[in-house]
Amino acid sequence: MTVGIMTSPGIKTPGDYINDVMALVKAKNPAEPEFHQAVQEVMESLRLVLERHPEYISERILERITEPERVLMFRVPWFDDHGNIQVNRGFRIEMNSAIGPYKGGLRFHPSVNLGILKFLAFEQVFKNSLTTLPMGGGKGGSDFDPKGKSDNEVMRFCQSFMTELSRHIGPDTDVPAGDIGVGGREIGYLFGQYKRLRNEFAGVLTGKGLGWGGSLIRPEATGYGCVYFANEMLKTRKETLEGKTCLVSGSGNVSQYTVEKLLDFGAKPVTVSDSDGVVYDPDGIDREKLAFVMDLKNVRRGRIRDYTDQYKKAIFMPSDVKLGYNPLWNIKADCAFPSATQNEINTKDAANLINNGCKLVAEGANMPSTLEATKLFLEAGLLYGPAKAANAGGVATSGLEMTQNSMRLSWTREEVDDRLHKIMIAIHKTCYETAEMYGTPGNLVNGANIGGFLKVANAMLDQGLV
Ligand code: NDP
Repeated sequence: MTVGIMTSPGIKTPGDYINDVMALVKAKNPAEPEFHQAVQEVMESLRLVLERHPEYISERILERITEPERVLMFRVPWFDDHGNIQVNRGFRIEMNSAIGPYKGGLRFHPSVNLGILKFLAFEQVFKNSLTTLPMGGGKGGSDFDPKGKSDNEVMRFCQSFMTELSRHIGPDTDVPAGDIGVGGREIGYLFGQYKRLRNEFAGVLTGKGLGWGGSLIRPEATGYGCVYFANEMLKTRKETLEGKTCLVSGSGNVSQYTVEKLLDFGAKPVTVSDSDGVVYDPDGIDREKLAFVMDLKNVRRGRIRDYTDQYKKAIFMPSDVKLGYNPLWNIKADCAFPSATQNEINTKDAANLINNGCKLVAEGANMPSTLEATKLFLEAGLLYGPAKAANAGGVATSGLEMTQNSMRLSWTREEVDDRLHKIMIAIHKTCYETAEMYGTPGNLVNGANIGGFLKVANAMLDQGLV
């Protein structure tokens, strides 16, 4: 397959066009399976759009939307506590700015590479569009692992990372936020270095501390938003979260506030996890236990297995890749909230959830289900909330943080939470109605992909060939 496959003029059928673009994406971006997966999922939904709008074919929108506007990759050298030189790689993918400044998180995790960040940046474009706010899509990060590093090491790394990144971002250009491995501590160090280098106090990062430009509810927003979205999905079947047993994976930012909001809705969360394994607490994780998890993860930066030392009825199941499935998704429950990382639900996990009677999957993490797992959920008729819709509350509240920064005002907790709630209701409505409009009622994957795509594609057409 040659990279020049799409250079011949002429309008193709939607199916041929999509196949050609997919082949092109694979040829131009080899060894980036997560990026291929994210593009493939969107393309499958867009077939329905192209049948009605051939102008997107003649305008080559899919080739344009899959090509980042800019990719930055840079060296991040820093000294560890022993005076040794360490070198990491930094990235920022500025994917699409058709509807606003690039916006999306920074991920610090040893698995980070170009392909993973491109998948995340691509997803972010559609997600940000769904929020109703004017934000383009971007993503960045580093293969730096904050785990086991001292605060001073994290600070020196963040300062070196920002020294390069500061040349490329700005409140009207590109506004990064947190993601895996980047929480309040890291955002603080990054912001401090930006301010020092540029000599300006600007709304250039979101997830900032409350005393220096942050927004109330931003830390809670992704988890809360995901549960609000789940609630909307259940309403369509005249059900509620009250009394529902829920599986939550991960134990970081998204998981913690998912558990908290589930408790507010009267549900019973029974699991949390980290990369070492799964904690299952058949009595449920109540507010006291959640406070223990928050202290363990956010303050002591410990491992989730310690939960079972404190709460004896809970069991710990260590991670075992040889199993071929995650025991977390094999626990009988009504609802599942994957909130750790990409591809954490494979075909076997999806089958286990379905066979155990799970009724709803709401994705807090980005792309936590493989393409095959997604198909199984849809075929089984589960309420399935894809990540770009269900976890959009985080970036939506980042958008609200930007608005407050621009106005130099801070809204109350109630005001931000109310806006977040309304945005999640609106996102669900868009996905639900778009799915119906395109002849696939209940398929929120199509609803989210098409709903997110149309606004961005039309803005690109309006702005000419740039
Ligand atoms: P955190 O770093 O706070 O927590 C991540 C959690 O997931 C940790 O418990 C971590 O365990 C676990 N985890 C991470 N990588 C792996 C892995 N490869 N295998 C098993 N477990 C893993 O990150 P967040 O909570 O912020 O992010 C979680 C997910 O939510 C990500 O997919 C992120 O992209 C997505 N997301 C986050 C948003 C936000 O606002 N923070 C917004 C929208 C989406 P361990 O500590 O052992 O690594």
